[in-house]
Amino acid sequence: MGAPELVLVLRYRKAVTYGLHVLLGALEQHETSTRYEVRFGETPEATAAHIRAASASAARVLVLWSFYSPDAEALARELAQIRALADAPNVAHLAGGVHATAEPVQTLDAGWDIAAVGEGEPTLLSLVDAVGDPTGIPGLAYRDATGAVVRTGRPQRRPLDEFRGFSLRWDRFNALEITRGCVFSCRFCQTPFMFSARFRHRSVANVRWHVDEMRRRGLRDVRFITPTALSYGSQTDEPNLDAVEELLASCKEGIGPDGRVFFGSFPSEIRPEHVSREALRLVRKHCANNNIIVGAQSGSDRVLDAAKRGHGVEEVKRAVRLGVEEGFRINVDMIFGMPGENQDDVDASLRLARELADLGARIHAHTFMPLPGTPWRDAPPGDVAPETISEVDRLSQRGALYGHWQKQRDHAARLAAAAEAYPRPGRSRTILPVADG
Ligand code: SF4
Repeated sequence: MGAPELVLVLRYRKAVTYGLHVLLGALEQHETSTRYEVRFGETPEATAAHIRAASASAARVLVLWSFYSPDAEALARELAQIRALADAPNVAHLAGGVHATAEPVQTLDAGWDIAAVGEGEPTLLSLVDAVGDPTGIPGLAYRDATGAVVRTGRPQRRPLDEFRGFSLRWDRFNALEITRGCVFSCRFCQTPFMFSARFRHRSVANVRWHVDEMRRRGLRDVRFITPTALSYGSQTDEPNLDAVEELLASCKEGIGPDGRVFFGSFPSEIRPEHVSREALRLVRKHCANNNIIVGAQSGSDRVLDAAKRGHGVEEVKRAVRLGVEEGFRINVDMIFGMPGENQDDVDASLRLARELADLGARIHAHTFMPLPGTPWRDAPPGDVAPETISEVDRLSQRGALYGHWQKQRDHAARLAAAAEAYPRPGRSRTILPVADG
């Protein structure tokens, strides 16, 4: 085989390996006449070295980036650094993921040549067939020769079973995505926007194939990526415990006596109203995790309603009590600084955090970030008052609270500034559903 026509250089950062692995999983099953190679750039310098080497021999080099909105600004600086180290006319930098999907023009203005919009698997396969030429391929935004932005629309969303959830050929494994999309519509969340407001589940047979492959390679731990773990197999807001049991039993059998299955713990979570004794006992029966993560988000029913969470504070307390009674360590996700939150709401959240901590739960604290693509993209950045910070600090000193909520305050401010620079027609940051409460 001669020199490659196309070299894909992955900007391979630990934080986002999963998104790149699923692309590799799709690629390894794809038949194409294009001669291509894949390289992993684990640092900016290594990425630049790959670009330099590849651009001298291949017709085209596509550098693939994936990142979340809070990282967009830092990575734009890194992109400039890499371009200064290595650049050529046959090199194009392509950014994919939820940020590029929500803010394609901002992504192009920040320095990327191409923004991938929507789910990346079909788009990447078409790009490989076209030896990296983006012209007319669905799922992209780029500038034409006149500088005008060309948008080719979103690619079709495909069943999860069509693509592998990790890569055998490049030996890259990760938690397995069992569900994509979400029927809930929490106003702060990018998932329904990115992947649609319905669930697509990987079938049990397909999940089992992945688990069998993992075991063959000596991997022992099976973890899942899902927006809401107990929604597996469901098309509604209710859990489908028969489907969950079939999944867990098959995974446990597949990974064997030395393996472990984790469900409802990192990197996924459970909605509070889905927690039941029956569900917890299923987890206990088939899984190795002694902890579960419950999404609470606020201690104020008013804020939960405004965020369209679809559950109240009582469900959170009930879930934590049940979890503790069934012997689980409970981590509870909470977001401070939600839009329209007033002092009563903050007090209610702190009260709930203390009450849950007294029951033995740990609070995973976040600061509200106005994420692109969400209904609250134009909301003010989450801010946390000094008194709240002292209270949160006290909980954290007790070991009852953890998380990157401080760093997220800075991210939130930067996202709000970016949103202001790219206003949406008809949107105003003063129009908030709970601002008058
Ligand atoms: S926060 Fe969770 S439940 Fe709500 S929309 Fe996002 S993924 Fe779905």
